Amino acid sequence: MPQDNHNYPVEQCPLTLWRYPKQDVRSSLQAWDSADILLAETALPILTQSNASTLVVNDQFGAISLHLQSVTSVPISFYSDSKIAHLAYQQNLQLNSDNSAKTDLTINPLGSSLNDLNKITAEQIYLIKIPKNLDFLEAILDKIHQVAADDAQVIAAAKATEINNKVIKLFNRYFKQVDVSLAVKKSRTISASGKQPSPYSSYSYWKTWQLDNGLTIYNAPNVFSRSSLDMGAAFFLPHLPAKPQDFQPTQTHVFDLACGNGVLSAYIANSFQQNNCAGELVIHLFDESYMAIESAVKTLEANDLSKVKIKTYWNDCLADVEQKADWIVCNPPFHQQKTITDHIAMQMFNQSKVCLAEGGKLSIVGNAHLGYGKRLNEIFAASQLVAQDKRFVVLTAND
Ligand code: SAM
Repeated sequence: MPQDNHNYPVEQCPLTLWRYPKQDVRSSLQAWDSADILLAETALPILTQSNASTLVVNDQFGAISLHLQSVTSVPISFYSDSKIAHLAYQQNLQLNSDNSAKTDLTINPLGSSLNDLNKITAEQIYLIKIPKNLDFLEAILDKIHQVAADDAQVIAAAKATEINNKVIKLFNRYFKQVDVSLAVKKSRTISASGKQPSPYSSYSYWKTWQLDNGLTIYNAPNVFSRSSLDMGAAFFLPHLPAKPQDFQPTQTHVFDLACGNGVLSAYIANSFQQNNCAGELVIHLFDESYMAIESAVKTLEANDLSKVKIKTYWNDCLADVEQKADWIVCNPPFHQQKTITDHIAMQMFNQSKVCLAEGGKLSIVGNAHLGYGKRLNEIFAASQLVAQDKRFVVLTAND
């Protein structure tokens, strides 16, 4: 039964909004939540009255930005670390621009569209969809505190259950005046203004930790497993390409698909150098998080893995990639934001099949209960179980 889950429920802006990639018409998932609507509706009268330049931070599928762009001509800009959020915004902008004759909707142009937190500049109003990751929230507040004028205003929103004492404390660390609203449809806003003169915090953009072999792993605030090695990755490391016979005599292309902080790449590059393997190693780093790409590059550069060439792709899985790979290594995600899903892993496996060079191989690690072995068998000519314990499996697949 199709669901009415893509018609944005705000009368003044009859937008059609889909997640990215588009959810099934029978799916109950939506491209917005009540906090997005509350944030846009709370900000609107302030924006209209002041005509103030506004940056929307962490809009997940474009709902907040497009809501505002369709009811005000105030200059709106967009920052998100996530490629999926940028693609969702563009998809929904296109869809609603195409529909505009039918819906009588004018979508005013967007100002800048940013993926690098360090490029955020002074705006008068910042609208933040509060991320679950508090290190990322602190990075955002710290950056705004650095660049904004004293009279800048911050309005943030999330589900009421996510606005806890730790979140409020972070806002208080950076701003003098912090007000939490009453709950509206199970969401709340936090309004903050008046910069604290010198916030006291142990926060630092980079967090590092070390592998047993001495490699230092660099982690930006929004990267997966920022504080320690992921257990799946730990189980995977001994099964990554490492020996001279794992590499081609001339050039080997390894894709680190969903690279995060680059821990898998660093391990492979280090083995390649330590074991004096022949030829050249080119590591291709893929992630939809800009901070992941930034972290993986920093990890490889800081560990003096200089014999290895690096290429980066801030990308949705392997979409539109023409390069062929000898090895694809992947510790796939099994949720998109707060939703548990296997669609990203499936997309990664299907696209890996297309990207493998002749004789190439995909190696993955996954939670044993996810049944990835069966899925790989459906896609590839052959798959092998390489290692297994109570929690994880390492599998390879090839054609
Ligand atoms: N390789 C790292 C490790 O083993 O610790 C990180 C693995 S983590 C389980 C999964 C990674 O997938 C995250 O860094 C996340 O940003 C990335 N990711 C999620 N969806 C993606 C997509 N559609 N395209 C590319 N990367 C994605």
